[in-house]
Amino acid sequence: MKIYADNAATTKMSRKAIDAMLPYMDKIYGNPSSLYTIGQEAAEALMQARGTMAKYLNCTPREILFTSGGSEADNQAIISAARLGAKKDKKHIISTAFEHHAVLHTLEKLEKEGYEVTLLDVHENGIVTPEQVRDAIRPDTCLVTIMYANNEIGTIQPIGEIGAVCREAGVLFHTDAVQAAGHLPIDVEKENIDMLSLSAHKFHGPKGTGVLYAKKGILLTNLIEGGAQERGKRGGTENVPAIMGMAAAFEEACQHREEYAKKLTALRDQLIEGLSGIPHSILNGDAKKRLPGNVNFCFEGIEGESLLLLLDEKGISASSGSACTSGSLDPSHVLLAIGRIHDIAHGSLRLSLSEENTEEEVRYMIKSVEEVVSYLRQMSPVWRDLQEGKREYVIQ
Ligand SMILES: *Cc1c(COP(=O)(O)O)cnc(C)c1O
Repeated sequence: MKIYADNAATTKMSRKAIDAMLPYMDKIYGNPSSLYTIGQEAAEALMQARGTMAKYLNCTPREILFTSGGSEADNQAIISAARLGAKKDKKHIISTAFEHHAVLHTLEKLEKEGYEVTLLDVHENGIVTPEQVRDAIRPDTCLVTIMYANNEIGTIQPIGEIGAVCREAGVLFHTDAVQAAGHLPIDVEKENIDMLSLSAHKFHGPKGTGVLYAKKGILLTNLIEGGAQERGKRGGTENVPAIMGMAAAFEEACQHREEYAKKLTALRDQLIEGLSGIPHSILNGDAKKRLPGNVNFCFEGIEGESLLLLLDEKGISASSGSACTSGSLDPSHVLLAIGRIHDIAHGSLRLSLSEENTEEEVRYMIKSVEEVVSYLRQMSPVWRDLQEGKREYVIQ
């Protein structure tokens, strides 16, 4: 059996998204800035895609900026707010300890430039509260940036309430909604969101394309200088095929959202129940306030990397939740942020489902994880010490 269960890392493109892209590769391939017909046809298509993105976020098309993806959108939102703040001598930014690195590393860069960053602690359930945000806001705060849903443990933040706190305090509010877009209902107006990032490849669209929503009146700082594309805020010929694929995928995801969420929630809960049966295992993040497709567990006495390799041999693509990009052995900053100690954070597993997964696959995953965890534990010196009482269990 071949099972893809790493949809938080990226998704398979939908047929609709692919079909929406094809004509813009070999037929309507004109440059949208050109004045002749196939250029103007491409420009017209972009306008439609902008309208689609705006419709499902509840903003105006002028507030949609196409980017190369979630990372770029996060960078541009944060840098823009920081520059606006500096003009008024406001150089304090509030975020959380479990953001994506596109946010955390941008904040580190700003710290080196003299900005002050407060990273809020995350509760053990993986959720920050509006009260924490309210308490952290100072007269010199220029930005609050908090993710909509976490990419490792899937927990959903009270974004509407946090947005209201920020609006009341007159502080700009950005949310990295890369994991939420297409999977949760988003309304930037109702939720008082000033800036929002999303990425097409997390909802069955193409990789390398995304959106930065920025509320009218917010002056964006360019990360890329060039032509007058994107109202002069992002130079470079627009990736028309990818943008068309993104709009088609977003529309499809939003139109089927409730139906998919219902199906996914059932699969997720079945998977959580099954894996909870493994002794000395613990679910990471709130059991209910989490993305419909996200499951994340720690198993005592084993290494996440070995678990992934053995699951791969059984045909299952999963993740340990810690993107070991640099091959570093550091455990996930997200699991540390919710209070898991190093030893435990190392034994983590993230299974992120899509609506294409089935109940049969869920049963196979439960059985496979049970087998692999028990096999690895047999060889683990830590597990032996635990069994012999030379060491105390952390996960009961
Ligand atoms: C995937 C992801 C990103 C990065 O998006 P890219 O389009 O891959 O640059 C940012 N934030 C979160 C929460 C993500 O899951």
